[in-house]
Amino acid sequence: MKITITGGAGFIGGNLVRHLSRIPEFTEIRVVDDLSTGFEENLSGLPVRFFEGSVLDSGLLDLAFDGVDTIVHLAALPSVSRSVKDPVASHHANATGTLSVLEAARRAGGTRVIAASSSSVYGANPHIPKHEELRPVPMSPYAVSKLAGEAYLAAYHHCYGLPVLSFRFFNVFGPLQPAGHSYAAVIPAWITAAAAGRPLVVHGDGSQTRDFTYVGTVCQVLAQAALRKVSTPDPVNLAYGGRTSLMSLIAELELTLGTELRTEHQPNRPGDVRHSQADDTRLRNLFPEIEPTSLRNGLKRTVRWFLTQDG
Ligand code: NAD
Repeated sequence: MKITITGGAGFIGGNLVRHLSRIPEFTEIRVVDDLSTGFEENLSGLPVRFFEGSVLDSGLLDLAFDGVDTIVHLAALPSVSRSVKDPVASHHANATGTLSVLEAARRAGGTRVIAASSSSVYGANPHIPKHEELRPVPMSPYAVSKLAGEAYLAAYHHCYGLPVLSFRFFNVFGPLQPAGHSYAAVIPAWITAAAAGRPLVVHGDGSQTRDFTYVGTVCQVLAQAALRKVSTPDPVNLAYGGRTSLMSLIAELELTLGTELRTEHQPNRPGDVRHSQADDTRLRNLFPEIEPTSLRNGLKRTVRWFLTQDG
């Protein structure tokens, strides 16, 4: 099976390339990435054909999609706060970028597209846990751009019969996740702060909850979806129903690191949702064979990776 991963030089993409390169059925792995938030080093030593450039470049996509069986579309400008600062850039990369990928998939003869959406589409809808039939109430330009992307996937299924699958990722964490920039996700930011003896910055009181998924589990699901040709126009949550407050995440990190951690509370950030927890019924029905890595084991592996990097 030949596969192209857009955004393959990023955090989840780099992990996915590693994962797929160990599965013999994947005979060729290609990556399209403009390196705007990803790094070529994430692919070093891996058996990939790298197409450097944007998903907005249709000529590049035609080359990268030629003859492949599946496209995993991960390319996007992530982060809610980045989109609050520059909504137009997020829209171009995420919404128009997804449309561009779908058009290229159609030109390539109707190639299957598996794409990354986000739990942020649930936004201000207060219902917990989040099941896919809930009304999306996006609170940020990022969430709008991801909702547009998954709506385009459904439209391409209905209009052109394209096999599609949108996964709503929740809070994914693990090795390769960047730590040292202002849009960093909480786990890498806190591990590196802890390692440097700095206090952990908590926005708000820390009682907000998130459903954390280890990146290895996300890769397992994506690989199975590609291998088993799973498709549906309806979005699928990719998280397993964990409900971890930021303060209890700090307690888990203290356990993993074997040390007490200091915190520094700062104001809540605009666009951030209060509680996030997936209903995993649809995911479990589609992928009953996959057992997710627990938060504790995922944190252990992630901490080990970060500490090896720093050391
Ligand atoms: P990432 O920033 O590490 O990866 C995104 C990759 O896309 C980067 O390598 C970047 O260079 C590339 N890219 C950006 N714009 C591009 C463009 N126009 N053309 C080509 N490449 C482009 O982020 P990630 O955390 O690995 O996220 C992967 C996907 O998962 C994204 O679609 C993101 O929105 C989604 N997602 C991630 C999370 C999470 O917790 N990490 C949660 C929800 C959704």
